Amino acid sequence: MIELKSPAEIERMHEAGRFVAQVLSALSARAEVGVNLLDLEQHARTMIRERGAESCYWDYAPSFGRGAFRNVVCLSVNDAVLHGLPHDYVLRDGDVLTMDLALGIDGWVADSAVTVIVGTPAEDDVRLVRASEEALEAAIAAAQPDAKLGDVSAAIGAVAARHGYPVNLEFGGHGLGRTMHEDPHVPNDGRPGRGLRLRPGLTLALEPWFARTTGKIVYDPDGWTIRSADGSRTTHSEHTIAITGDGPRVLTRREEPVAS
Ligand code: MG
Ligand code: MG
Repeated sequence: MIELKSPAEIERMHEAGRFVAQVLSALSARAEVGVNLLDLEQHARTMIRERGAESCYWDYAPSFGRGAFRNVVCLSVNDAVLHGLPHDYVLRDGDVLTMDLALGIDGWVADSAVTVIVGTPAEDDVRLVRASEEALEAAIAAAQPDAKLGDVSAAIGAVAARHGYPVNLEFGGHGLGRTMHEDPHVPNDGRPGRGLRLRPGLTLALEPWFARTTGKIVYDPDGWTIRSADGSRTTHSEHTIAITGDGPRVLTRREEPVAS
């Protein structure tokens, strides 16, 4: 079922979204060579506790995971792209790090992810990361009232195709609001003009992610961390948006663009 949100409810999601953006900005600033992933997890926990926010990940136990998730942020390095389990790993020069965060404040949720390059960026990695950012902006621009969900998916797929990156259709964007995952599913490629009509009040997490040379994925033995099947590097960009009568509104925009 798809629940349309009132302007007041979208405001409350925006409050959660502003805080998600703040935490991701803070983590991006801390993600340097020599920093342990567990330090980033701890910093996120502290910020969430001090704000009185609620992690959507803590105790999350979907069918594909191995038991409940006991972290507040997903940290995925290099060939890891989704659901990366924070672990004892010290960031190295040139690592590609995706940070994905979903939080609730007073019962309303926002979800966002950013990919940064730690230390000296390799040219191929910069191109890759910029492609998912470009795909995300294209998806947002396509999310106009009375457009179709297929227009959003197709916008992502077109950017991937232009850069020559394969697209995986198993994991994509989703509705959200009172909980982190609601209908509809938003595939990262599709046909324009098809699917659900986008109406004001629809709130979506749009999240293009690509691996450089494959659309296939493999799972770590931890049951969570998802990697590119061929070990190629990956990128993931995500914002929570609301469709309004005036067009798409981004609820998780960070104040300063994250350098990559
Ligand atoms: Mg997310
Ligand atoms: Mg999401």
